[in-house]
Amino acid sequence: MESLDPVSPLEQALHAARALVLADLIAGEVAHADVVSLVEDSVAERRWWVEQWPDGMAYLAGLVAQDVQDALLERYGRWPLCPVCGSGDPHALDVEPELGPDPHWVCHKAGVKVAAVGLLGSATGGTTSS
Ligand SMILES: [Zn+2]
Repeated sequence: MESLDPVSPLEQALHAARALVLADLIAGEVAHADVVSLVEDSVAERRWWVEQWPDGMAYLAGLVAQDVQDALLERYGRWPLCPVCGSGDPHALDVEPELGPDPHWVCHKAGVKVAAVGLLGSATGGTTSS
């Protein structure tokens, strides 16, 4: 017999990806109920995906972030807006690497890493400084 069934690494990775992307949505003040459901949809699809390809577990946060970004673009517009460039056209940040571990939001216009996925609030003068 196995010992008590712990939360599987896969579930932990999905949970972490969900939490990171939600944190960035909250930082951008776009975490409305219908937006949160976009995250849930992405996590459900990526659960299937990662069950087929467990090696992709480390890529989940970046993938969920990109799924939500795409879904938001259709419904609401660009997200997350670049907090680095003060002038010019508003533009969205991109996730890099698109398929890799340790995903970051980057501004291709300024050529800078803005924040790790999940830490956008700290890059945009978020709420938790003490
Ligand atoms: Zn920028």
